[in-house]
Amino acid sequence: MGETLKIAISPSIQLGGSLFTPDQLVKIGSVVGADAKIEMTSFKQLYAAVSAEELEAIKDELERNGLEVYPAGFATKSLIACNFCKGADIAGLETAKSLNQAIAGIETPTPLKIGYAGCALGTSEPLIKDIGVVKMRERFDIYVGGEPKGLKTAFAQLLVSGVTEDRLVPAITAIIDYYKEHANGKEKFSKFVERVSLEQLQQIAG
Ligand code: SF4
Repeated sequence: MGETLKIAISPSIQLGGSLFTPDQLVKIGSVVGADAKIEMTSFKQLYAAVSAEELEAIKDELERNGLEVYPAGFATKSLIACNFCKGADIAGLETAKSLNQAIAGIETPTPLKIGYAGCALGTSEPLIKDIGVVKMRERFDIYVGGEPKGLKTAFAQLLVSGVTEDRLVPAITAIIDYYKEHANGKEKFSKFVERVSLEQLQQIAG
C-alpha cells in the first residue's frame, strides 16, 4: 500500500445508540482489507487506515451501506449520542441527527468531542465532553469544557439553559467557529473555555 490515511467510521445516529449491523461490519472488513488495522476509539468511532488512492471509493462504498465516514484526528468527532431510550420524540432523535450533520468532521485545533443526552440522566456522559447537550423537556442545555483526561479532570460547566430547538445548531456551530478562530495553536478546548471565559462564550452562543 502507498500513502495511507486514517478514516473514522460511525454508524448513523439512531434509536438504540451506536449500532452496527453484522452486514456493515462485514462490509468494513471487506473494503479496508484483510491487513488493515481497525481501532475501537473511546468516542464511538472505528478508525481504519486505508490507501489514500482508494479513499473516495471506500468512503462511497461505506456510505452506500449506511455508514458515515469522517476525517480522523484533529476534527470534531461524530456526535456522541445516548441510546434515545425514552423514544425518538422525547429524547430528540431528529435534533441529534441534525446536530451530528452540522458538526461531525469539522477541522478543529484539537479533536473535539460533543455529547448529546436525550434527558437529564445523561447516560452518554455529556458533562465530560468538550461540549455537552442535554435535552430538558422541549429545550436544551449546553455545557462546555469537560475534561475527562489527565490528573486535572473537570466537569463541563453550564453555558446556556433553555435553548430552543431552532437555536441549538447555530449555537453549537458558533462555539466551534469561535474556538477555531481564537484558539492559541493547539490549545485544548477546556483550557480555551477557561481563558476566554464563560461570559464571552455565552455571547457567542447567542
Ligand atoms: S440520556 Fe436519557 S433518553 Fe438518553 S439513553 Fe440515557 S436515559 Fe435514555
